[in-house]
Amino acid sequence: MKSHLIFIGAPGSGKGTQASKFVTEKGLKHISTGDLLRAEIAKQSALGKEVKSVMDSGALVSDDLVIRLLQANVDLQKSQYIFDGYPRNIAQAQTLDKEVLKGAPSTAVYFEMDMGKLVSRLTNRRTCKTCGAIYNLISKAPKITGVCDVCGGTNLVQRADDQEDVIKNRLQVFQDTVSPVLKYYQDQGRLMRVDAEKAVDDIFGQIASKV
Ligand code: AMP
Repeated sequence: MKSHLIFIGAPGSGKGTQASKFVTEKGLKHISTGDLLRAEIAKQSALGKEVKSVMDSGALVSDDLVIRLLQANVDLQKSQYIFDGYPRNIAQAQTLDKEVLKGAPSTAVYFEMDMGKLVSRLTNRRTCKTCGAIYNLISKAPKITGVCDVCGGTNLVQRADDQEDVIKNRLQVFQDTVSPVLKYYQDQGRLMRVDAEKAVDDIFGQIASKV
């Protein structure tokens, strides 16, 4: 049976970039709780209105709400998944095992990176509003300024929470909560560490060789 992947890493550590490569090259399905929440905000649903201010501040939304959203969007019978942005704390890690994976094999991948470099990565991050492709104005700029290489869309936007003060809060929240999550997977022999500062293809090869 194929292993599901659980991506753990600070905001900006490259989880989304790797996830989209696994989707196109290996046919995995990418599920990002951040994307699901942003979609609710864009739809202006009741849930979206409830979470907007929390997300804008860089804090985490409630565990209960995120798990409901995740369960509504996952069908383990149909796909091999990459969980991105979930779990964010030990309670979520336990819930993922008990209520979603239910014994299905999975590997947690930790994207290790120097926190100091992330602020610049994130302030320069842009996302195509049409297809979701991710760019970095310094290290991975689109070939034509302002135009998406993938779909030709011209709306490359900065996420609301990629402003410097909010970024610092998001990184702090990550640092405060990640250690027990890593220990949880490490203790069960389910953790793989990758150097998130390596080239995108090297990281991809390392993860792909283990799953
Ligand atoms: P991300 O796109 O993963 O950086 O997430 C953006 C924001 O969505 C976070 O700062 C949180 O406010 C919220 N969020 C995403 N995933 C979770 C989660 N698993 N638990 C709680 N909040 C989350």
